[in-house]
Amino acid sequence: MSGAIVTSGDVIQAERAGAGLPDCFVVTIDGQAATGKSSVGLRLAQRLGAAFLDTGAMYRDATALAIEHHAAPQDAEGIVRLVAQTRAGMDWVASPGNNYRGLDGAMNARLRTPGVDAAVSIVARHEGLRLLLIDWQRGAARAHKRLVTEGRDQGSRVFRETALAKFFLMAEPGERARRRVEQLRAAGVAADAGAIEANLRLRDAIDASHAMKIAEGMAVIDTTHLSEDAVVERLAGLVLAQADRAGG
Ligand code: C5P
Repeated sequence: MSGAIVTSGDVIQAERAGAGLPDCFVVTIDGQAATGKSSVGLRLAQRLGAAFLDTGAMYRDATALAIEHHAAPQDAEGIVRLVAQTRAGMDWVASPGNNYRGLDGAMNARLRTPGVDAAVSIVARHEGLRLLLIDWQRGAARAHKRLVTEGRDQGSRVFRETALAKFFLMAEPGERARRRVEQLRAAGVAADAGAIEANLRLRDAIDASHAMKIAEGMAVIDTTHLSEDAVVERLAGLVLAQADRAGG
């Protein structure tokens, strides 16, 4: 499906024609840090009448829990125990406000601190934690029949065989840092572009060493020169085209 050119007119037409999204599907968005996977994913989900799962938030929450309970990021067993005890049965699908159903506003806010940014990729390396969270992610797909899910391994591992459409988002590190600084400043948080870019590059390197990869069947989208609207539009078009192909 990569390389298909779909215009906004095609998308609107396809949606009007009810181009037949199945009742049950998973769309995955993998990719590098700060490529807009969560904001694009949430909007794409709304567009497709699907629920949205931000798996980065699950790893961030595990990291925030470790920090709060003074567990070292290297303490794999302690972290798995903590997460299993406190989050079992939680529905991680985002509400329309992009908060996670089981976490209130204050609990959400603690997911995006510099402390969590610094430790999350180390915590996410623990295979025991990954297996637990993957089990919950697959559970979310059973509970929410139409699901858009984002994360480092959603298309390459968790839903590799079952996703209707798979995407990989990438962008130049400098541009990703610029966007992140803009977001933080808009939220009134002081931000240093150099430090943010260094953290993005470090997380990419760690994530690429064990989880993040471009897998077969993924459409790779370089968002460096694309607006968020344009990315959502392109992904929606490709999902509809893929659903058409799968249905026909
Ligand atoms: O997407 P976000 O930047 O919030 O993810 C935070 C971190 O969580 C990533 O840098 C990565 O280390 C980890 N992660 C992961 N697998 C996922 C989602 C996130 O390892 N499916």
